[in-house]
Amino acid sequence: MAGQKTVLVVGGGISGITAAVEAAEAGCKVILVERLPYLGGRVAQLNKYFPKLCPPTCGLEINFRRIRRNPDITVYTLAEVERIAGKPGAYTASIKISPRYVEDHTATSKCVEDCPVEIPNDFNYGMDKTKAVSLPYEMAYPMNLVANGDALNKVKDTPGFKSFVESCTKKGIRIDLEAKAETIDVEVDSVVWATGWRPYDATKLEKLGFGTCANVITNVMMERLAAANGPTRGEIVRPSDGKKVNNLAFVQCAGSRDRNHLPYCSSICCLASLKQATYLRDYNPEAQAQIFYIDLRAHGRFEFFFDRVTKDDKIILTKGKIVNVTEDPVTKDVILEGEDILSGQKIRRTFDMAVLATGMQPNTSVEKIPGPGVTYDDFGFVVSATGIHGAGVTKRPMDVGTCLQDATGAALKALQDTVGR
Ligand SMILES: Cc1cc2nc3c(=O)[nH]c(=O)nc-3n(C[C@H](O)[C@H](O)[C@H](O)COP(=O)(O)OP(=O)(O)OC[C@H]3O[C@@H](n4cnc5c(N)ncnc54)[C@H](O)[C@@H]3O)c2cc1C
Repeated sequence: MAGQKTVLVVGGGISGITAAVEAAEAGCKVILVERLPYLGGRVAQLNKYFPKLCPPTCGLEINFRRIRRNPDITVYTLAEVERIAGKPGAYTASIKISPRYVEDHTATSKCVEDCPVEIPNDFNYGMDKTKAVSLPYEMAYPMNLVANGDALNKVKDTPGFKSFVESCTKKGIRIDLEAKAETIDVEVDSVVWATGWRPYDATKLEKLGFGTCANVITNVMMERLAAANGPTRGEIVRPSDGKKVNNLAFVQCAGSRDRNHLPYCSSICCLASLKQATYLRDYNPEAQAQIFYIDLRAHGRFEFFFDRVTKDDKIILTKGKIVNVTEDPVTKDVILEGEDILSGQKIRRTFDMAVLATGMQPNTSVEKIPGPGVTYDDFGFVVSATGIHGAGVTKRPMDVGTCLQDATGAALKALQDTVGR
């Protein structure tokens, strides 16, 4: 199309995907750059979405179809933007694309089972292992295998690995550890930056037992534990001994609204814990969940979700600040201590397992945008930019529905960048 604008979208989570399809369907060319081998971001790792409690793959699949059908969208996975120069309407961006080390001409993952090397499974937050040649997850887009070059290079001269490579070749799958990264330069009119968030590092919460108590996990890990394609195939069991969880605690604001950690509220953690309490109750009708909170926040229409979930009398809400988490050295039960804010009494209670509701930290707090004219707030969220527009959790903590609206707005802003060429 003559005069067709090009928009670079960085980050292939729900916000980046939305900005990409909205801009492309409005007539732009779009280059979508994602660091991981698949699109979907953190949403792909959720078990269900609040408030409807449907699987996130539903929402993602519709968008993958929109991408697949649109010739104006080019997707680069395993890719990162190294540099952006120029001005609104006339940017040049350098994109580094790392190799997948595997070409699968059969669209099958059959070689994976024979792979002799296992690595920690990042998709499941390290709670299990995966093969060093694998499909990132069942619904991955693109539906392509990826190999971990570092892990495979360590064994490349062993007979076991050589025979694995041969068996792959016979199945139409080519492993190529010599493949190199390449860098391309692209000219674009505007940029949408949607690199999202990382879970706040729970090991920094020294008193809350993560890493020292076997049965203390984080809320993102709980999503994977409850998922049918997770490390336990959806069995909500304790990491220490595989025992079915009967008595689960949620510690809200773990590191959030705390000037030593994340001073702000991530806005979704209360809803996420309420949702995760329903995972437990559905899995084990005998089980009980107790949520320790400072303030329970369910804004807007989420109030109805809150009302629905809290009708269950086995989901107990306690306004209490948990300050210490330890474990029984023999049973590995988790012991929570703190204060019941309403009664003023001390809390000391024992649970099978505890989930720390950690907040969302913007990736831009650690990795700044390598381009001109971007400003950040005190926490690293993108505040404003001309020509480089933030979208989704890059700007502030948001639920998925709000990300969709925000990313659509960012696409519109990108369309309006007319200065330049
Ligand atoms: C425990 C928990 C449960 C939740 N449950 C729900 C729920 O049920 N319902 C709901 O509405 N919301 C939920 N949320 C919130 C939801 O996860 C976010 O709203 C959503 O992930 C935001 O999407 P995003 O695209 O902005 O960011 P992300 O999902 O973080 O996506 C960002 C993408 O950018 C990529 N990226 C990062 N850096 C780079 C780079 N430099 N270059 C290229 N790519 C990069 C990442 O790999 C990722 O794919 C939950 C959050 C938590 C913590």
